[in-house]
Amino acid sequence: MSKRASKSRIADYFRSVYQSHPAVITRAPGRIEFIGNHTDYNGGLVAGAAIDRSILVAAGIRTDRILRFASEFSTGTASCELDAIRKIEGKGRWANYPLGVYTELAERGLRPDAGFNLAIMSDLPSGAGLSSSAALELSTALAIGTLYGMTLSRADLVQIGRSAENKFLGVPTGPLDQSVCAHGRENHLVFIDCRTLEADLVPVPPECRIRIFNTGTKHSLLDSLYSKRHSECSEVLRIIRKMHPEIEYLTDAKESFLDELGGNAPEEVVKCARHVIRENERVRATREALNRGDIERTGKLMHESHESSRTLFENSCPELDTLSDLLNAHPRVHGARLSGGGFGGAAIALTSEAFGDDDATAIREEYRKAYNHFPDTLACAITDGAEVLQK
Ligand code: ADP
Ligand code: MG
Repeated sequence: MSKRASKSRIADYFRSVYQSHPAVITRAPGRIEFIGNHTDYNGGLVAGAAIDRSILVAAGIRTDRILRFASEFSTGTASCELDAIRKIEGKGRWANYPLGVYTELAERGLRPDAGFNLAIMSDLPSGAGLSSSAALELSTALAIGTLYGMTLSRADLVQIGRSAENKFLGVPTGPLDQSVCAHGRENHLVFIDCRTLEADLVPVPPECRIRIFNTGTKHSLLDSLYSKRHSECSEVLRIIRKMHPEIEYLTDAKESFLDELGGNAPEEVVKCARHVIRENERVRATREALNRGDIERTGKLMHESHESSRTLFENSCPELDTLSDLLNAHPRVHGARLSGGGFGGAAIALTSEAFGDDDATAIREEYRKAYNHFPDTLACAITDGAEVLQK
């Protein structure tokens, strides 16, 4: 993935696969979770940012009733009949993301007379916790919508992408990925209220930069640990509601409610609840700190978020802890934390503009001493959300 995806490169790619010019080209970015860890499914707040690594989609209408998909990611094409949509098995399974999006558009009334050709190009690593899946869903939705003249709002894009991922792919993701991908704005964080899906933009101070360090490790128990934490949050909510039936989500609870529980709840689940309640407050505090330009406080909140993941929610891992320790101790880093679900994946740092490649190299070298491999690193700019590049 050394070459960057661009409008001219994807137009060339589309022509080489389909021997015709694309009618539409769209782009949708990957995202980082800036702060707000496991708050989304607990009805809380989360902040993310769209990054300058994206998925581009080029599309054109066909004369027959076939839907055809090509991605630089994979050789050959995948296809499906417009009148007999079903999940694709085998090598072309990745095409279920755009196909799931088409299915959602059809449910919203899209009835095309003819099928389409789709080509996909990416400079966003897949499966690295930067949400290539949401980028693929939103760039596809915008491309197909534009191709057939269906107007889609940002809120529509969020819903379509999320439904495609939840229903067609069967992946139960929260609203962060698609919301940031849709609402992202250059040099802004997107704060999302996960109950209402309202998005609020807050500028990042111009002297700050974002750095990603990817451990390249994924805990083998990732999925089971993720769902274990999910059910622990539901369990503690059920116990709290016996005393406070008025609360709907865990993020409605006050920390004092946990002290009232005494021995009525296992210690493990109380720790999870403490993390979620405090983390939600940290997202609120981050918004306030950024609004008054307080970078130091923002960085401290990121560090606290990581420590809470490490000790209370226990969704960190040694590799992420090492990155957090190295970064949070660095003079040109304001704050750092794991980003995303945890149990592996990436850490992010908010740095000063003086933090350079030499600094990143030194951190990678320290990490290698402990784990015998280098973490990938990415200096990224914060960009706009999903957009039409050509029509
Ligand atoms: P993440 O969203 O964190 O990158 P996911 O597992 O949710 O990881 O989504 C990754 C999947 O998205 C891939 O397995 C593939 O099916 C699809 N995908 C991502 N990028 C591309 C691409 N460039 N071309 C085709 N499919 C892609
Ligand atoms: Mg994903």
